[in-house]
Amino acid sequence: MTAIELVQGDITRESVDAIVNAANSSLLGGGGVDGAIHRRGGPAILEDCRRLRAAHLGKGLPTGRAVATTAGELDARWVVHTVGPVFSATEDRSGILASCYRESLRVAGELGARTVAFPAISTGVYGWPMDDGARIAVETVRAADTTVEEVRFVLFDERAYEAFAAQLR
Ligand code: ADP
Repeated sequence: MTAIELVQGDITRESVDAIVNAANSSLLGGGGVDGAIHRRGGPAILEDCRRLRAAHLGKGLPTGRAVATTAGELDARWVVHTVGPVFSATEDRSGILASCYRESLRVAGELGARTVAFPAISTGVYGWPMDDGARIAVETVRAADTTVEEVRFVLFDERAYEAFAAQLR
């Protein structure tokens, strides 16, 4: 069974095999977690992303999917980029959000990662309500069939931490 840990802080400071990035489909950088990962990880990550775009991801990475690059200067072996759905009040996109967690674990597991750090995907600029985002994250990881031994949710602030903690109680 995969162990679930919670940490409050900056995901770019974590030491794990793989750090998951809440990217956008261009893979060419953005704000939030994405900006922080590229800033601290250095240019090697963006170079890898450009290579992926030039190779098989010409139209970008579809929502709900995941792809790995180097982690550059981060204390990790890989960054796994996944594209969360933008929250919609009229359309249920929770299956896509769950897919982000599942696909990221699949990609990380295939690479041999045993420890993976996740941010709260889609709960920033993409507007997903934190409590629901936390529920989907925890349920999906709990149900995942994965070789990853430890999933660490790295929550930026106390409110996010408490939302995830409530799901684990
Ligand atoms: P999205 O576009 O998927 O919503 P964001 O990066 O805007 O992605 O936000 C996702 C979550 O990550 C938000 O809850 C945000 O507060 C949080 N976050 C932002 N920067 C960091 C960071 N350096 N480490 C961990 N979490 C972060």
